[in-house]
Amino acid sequence: MKCKFCDKDSYIKLKSPKMYLCKEHFVEYFEDKVKKSIEKYKMLNKDEKILVAVSGGKDGHAAAWVLKKLGYNIELFHINLGIKGFSDESLKAVNELAEKLDVPLHVVNLKDITGKTMEDIRGKKCSICGITKRYLMNKFGYENGFDVIVTGHNLDDEVAFILNNIMNWSVSYLARQGPVLPQRGKYPKKVKPLYENTEEEISAYAEVVGLEVFSEKCPFAKKAITLEYKEMLNKLEEKRPGMKYNFLVGYLKNRHLFEKELEDIPFVECKVCGMSSSGEVCSFCRTWGLKEEVDLKVKE
Ligand code: AMP
Ligand code: ZN
Ligand code: ZN
Repeated sequence: MKCKFCDKDSYIKLKSPKMYLCKEHFVEYFEDKVKKSIEKYKMLNKDEKILVAVSGGKDGHAAAWVLKKLGYNIELFHINLGIKGFSDESLKAVNELAEKLDVPLHVVNLKDITGKTMEDIRGKKCSICGITKRYLMNKFGYENGFDVIVTGHNLDDEVAFILNNIMNWSVSYLARQGPVLPQRGKYPKKVKPLYENTEEEISAYAEVVGLEVFSEKCPFAKKAITLEYKEMLNKLEEKRPGMKYNFLVGYLKNRHLFEKELEDIPFVECKVCGMSSSGEVCSFCRTWGLKEEVDLKVKE
């Protein structure tokens, strides 16, 4: 098939809206979509100091790449979780990206902070990994004066997350999800520029622009329920293109219905580390058994 906009052979068939695009027009389409999401949800300004959280996978890589191309002031942030085989490859990919983009990269090692790695955790690894990553992003961003933290979460991540939280009726999570999470206490603003981009599009984009990503899933996440939701949703999307996007739009329209749930959740400072927390000791300090604050400030 030919590209919708020129005489070249198509590189990709998009399903919603249905169209065939050549490489050049696909790149243009993808970057324009990110730009429009940033504008539509009022995510970022050109004068903000932006920290992009990168795991080494396609999403963070693509987000950083597009933001730099659009002229935003970005630095990269990576958490080394100390997972055998996986973390070394992730770090390699992140180093390569920083070099290609010519932007500063900050790496935080979980082991330096807690004395342990994700390997040492038994049981609920995925939820602990989530708590750990969120905390370190927030604390690093806050201590080093970043205005905003960018993550690579995409449309598929968001839809799977919301569906999972509906299945569990985790109403407080449903009240707080979205493309922009405003600054709150010591948590910097968080935004997701790939909010409307599908996983499929992002993989294709990473390939066309030549990003060297580490595409393996975390060995601990292989059985994650969200992966099963994604598979199921893709099957439904095949039959009803646009369904995932419509679900997300509907969620944003109805999110306020869940907000009441947040009123009763306390918002205080952790007595160990001083970060914003819903309990006396925050979930990070509790999980890792910390007795004193960790200093993440970059030394000049
Ligand atoms: P995940 O929870 O693995 O789906 O990742 C969601 C987003 O969190 C990614 O797109 C990154 O922006 C960020 N992220 C995940 N893992 C790391 C990491 N090890 N270091 C820094 N950011 C990460
Ligand atoms: Zn074309
Ligand atoms: Zn704490």
